[in-house]
Amino acid sequence: MILERITAEAMASPDREVCGLLLGTGDRVLEARSCRNVAADPAMRFEIDPAALLAAHRAARRGGPAVIGHYHSHPSGLAEPSPRDAADAVADGSIWLIAAGGRVTGWSAVENGALHGRFVPLRLHGAAGRATG
Ligand SMILES: [Zn+2]
Repeated sequence: MILERITAEAMASPDREVCGLLLGTGDRVLEARSCRNVAADPAMRFEIDPAALLAAHRAARRGGPAVIGHYHSHPSGLAEPSPRDAADAVADGSIWLIAAGGRVTGWSAVENGALHGRFVPLRLHGAAGRATG
């Protein structure tokens, strides 16, 4: 359900990257929260609204679900992280979901990943929103 929603959001935005936060516990995504893309060039990049990120971290400290990753779309690119994504990614094990071409792929940002030296693929289990390496 989460993946279908992200796919639909991405398909509805052919000209700019959509983005949002993945909230949950461990590797289990409970919610994909759509956020404003505040990047200067949203057709080519994404930058999650820092206010939304701050609010999510604040809610997590009060006992809410943790921020365990984020998603964004590639309107005219591949359903995998780009070299630019790799350059921006911190190797913190967070979940990256990439929507493109009507599907979503999942990745974990790690040291020495197989893709661009930064990402390893995750298996996604749609209904449960669970991502495992
Ligand atoms: Zn990207």
